[in-house]
Amino acid sequence: MDEHEVTCGVCQKQTFVRMITSTNSMGSPDLDTRPAPMRRYNLGAEISRCPYCGYCCVDLKSATESDISLVGQEEYQSQLTNTDFPEIANSYLCYALLNDASDDSENHFWSMLSAAWACDDEGTEDAAASCRLQAADIGFLCFEKGISFGGDKDSEIAIIVDALRRAKDFNRASALLAEHDGSCENETVQVVLNFQRDLVFKQDCQLYKIQHAFEHAEQQHAPED
Ligand SMILES: [Zn+2]
Repeated sequence: MDEHEVTCGVCQKQTFVRMITSTNSMGSPDLDTRPAPMRRYNLGAEISRCPYCGYCCVDLKSATESDISLVGQEEYQSQLTNTDFPEIANSYLCYALLNDASDDSENHFWSMLSAAWACDDEGTEDAAASCRLQAADIGFLCFEKGISFGGDKDSEIAIIVDALRRAKDFNRASALLAEHDGSCENETVQVVLNFQRDLVFKQDCQLYKIQHAFEHAEQQHAPED
């Protein structure tokens, strides 16, 4: 991890940001695609926050007119210090407000899901659930608008199902699985969806990895003793 100086695109003051010099991920990602370590622990370094004006962005030096106008507003500034969420989650939630204001639905979705991951890291369950439910709503909105945010539609459905399941909205997770039943074209995602169906049925809201979905599939096909 390196530090380097940048000029904030909103307030024009100089600040230091952490830069990820190398990144690797060893092992299976989570069902919602959160990477395995080491990349997993870069969450706080993948977004920067200007200590002067509170601008939160992946790249602090670039700011649009829409960013500059929103950062000064009460809604943004109160999110920045909202004590219901950990600090890194607030940075992502602020970035989500900026994404929303500039109609960037794809980044809006991932900012919200990243906020949930930041809440997971601090063990703030209610805050994580609230971010996941908002991420799911943004995902549904992307479907309506025909905007892709996660590769193919099958993968996007699997990510939304996981967000709903982990936020304990088993009804909506189950309805989405039922609606998509039989139309999945991605074989890997089908394995994940089968696993999700089982977890939702058992009302299991725990964290699982994609590898667990494959182990589950193997167990299902194993001959009974
Ligand atoms: Zn600034």
